[in-house]
Amino acid sequence: MSGFTLDLTDDQSQIKEWVHTFAQDVVRPVAHEYDEREEMPFDVIKEASNIGLYSWEFLAQAYADENGLTLPIAMEELFWGDAGIGLAIMGTTLGVSGIMGNGTQEQIEEWIPQCFGSPEKIQTAAFCVSEPDAGSDVSSLRTKAVYDEAKDEWVLNGTKAWITNGGIADVHVVVASVDPELKARGHASFVVPPGTKGLSQGSKYKKHGIRASHTAEVILEDVRIPGSCLLGGKEKLDHRLNKAREGKSTSTQAAMSTFEASRPIVAAQAIGIARAAYEFSLQYSKERFTWGKPIVQNQAIAFMLADMITEIDAARLLVWRACWMARNGKQFVSGEGSMSKLKAGEVAVKVTENAIQILGGYGYTREYPVERWHRDAKIYTIFEGTSEIQRLVVARAISGEKIH
Ligand SMILES: Cc1cc2nc3c(=O)[nH]c(=O)nc-3n(C[C@H](O)[C@H](O)[C@H](O)COP(=O)(O)OP(=O)(O)OC[C@H]3O[C@@H](n4cnc5c(N)ncnc54)[C@H](O)[C@@H]3O)c2cc1C
Repeated sequence: MSGFTLDLTDDQSQIKEWVHTFAQDVVRPVAHEYDEREEMPFDVIKEASNIGLYSWEFLAQAYADENGLTLPIAMEELFWGDAGIGLAIMGTTLGVSGIMGNGTQEQIEEWIPQCFGSPEKIQTAAFCVSEPDAGSDVSSLRTKAVYDEAKDEWVLNGTKAWITNGGIADVHVVVASVDPELKARGHASFVVPPGTKGLSQGSKYKKHGIRASHTAEVILEDVRIPGSCLLGGKEKLDHRLNKAREGKSTSTQAAMSTFEASRPIVAAQAIGIARAAYEFSLQYSKERFTWGKPIVQNQAIAFMLADMITEIDAARLLVWRACWMARNGKQFVSGEGSMSKLKAGEVAVKVTENAIQILGGYGYTREYPVERWHRDAKIYTIFEGTSEIQRLVVARAISGEKIH
């Protein structure tokens, strides 16, 4: 008998069904409204918290599965419901990944539950890396963290841009430079606890898509946090900085280790949007008649749908492979995580554009969801590394060359 299987476990099949039901019954009915209002859907997050979907327990259960597929499956179903609301629910996991990727066991136990709060008191988290002049080029971060040894405190100053849940989150995970000369190797991650003075929200962005998700600048002005808020601890940081100063290679940098882990999961979100658009346009093509027959009977339309499902399935297989590799401790050798994000993001844009085409004029209006799905899909070629940056990662991995 072959060891290869794409079968879901019983647990995974149940989780898929559970998230799908939530997406269908709770998320979809309010998706249009929140897109129009451009507001965080706290009532939906509360519902997600009530059923345990918005919780550390769910995430920990998903992280502990045997084949790595629980999280991508759950993401696909939730984002099939709506990407803006999906991100409002899952944006917190970016901050959580920052803590998981860099924190000690003690820090994980202290901070991650606070990222979620409880159904009675919803809390959220943000992961703050990008800056006005440092998006793709993370090595150019200007936000500084200076250690005040006398008080055992870190002092953070800078401006972060494009931050999901920025300024409204309870827990902000901030990546800052502790040694600018070392560029990305001089970065460290910090937890800024709820209510810390000096952290405020700057402008909130008005976006093309995923408008139920809050994206804003975060201003850090003399933000003082205890020494214990340095993720991983001072000893580990000093060791890493000393190695970098001696020119020795160091472990993955703070922000990068978070992105490595999260890219295939983000890719699964894009597949959810693409699948929603594919299913909707397939159904529409059977119901819309021109010249007395359903438009799906035209090869031009049917082939477009055939290409859409083929591309979606191809993208999903790349995502599942990357998640399976990550769970089984297999090193990415050809940038497999980036490959999955690249493919899924571009497929989501193309599939949602085709969906508009299949709906014709109706597809171009806000009366139908496909134009929203198209706007939502576009972010997946931009955040968590643009498509160009994913190509760069893959190209460097396969060639071993310094490609710019
Ligand atoms: C809605 C939204 C939510 C976000 N959420 C977060 C968040 O929670 N936390 C966070 O830290 N950040 C977040 N971001 C920031 C996001 O990760 C950045 O926008 C992204 O990394 C791109 O950076 P940039 O916007 O500065 O573009 P730039 O880096 O200026 O890139 C501009 C263009 O140049 C291309 N380019 C740049 N360098 C190269 C190169 N070397 N080779 C080829 N092409 C290149 C890019 O691909 C892109 O097409 C979010 C962004 C958005 C829009």
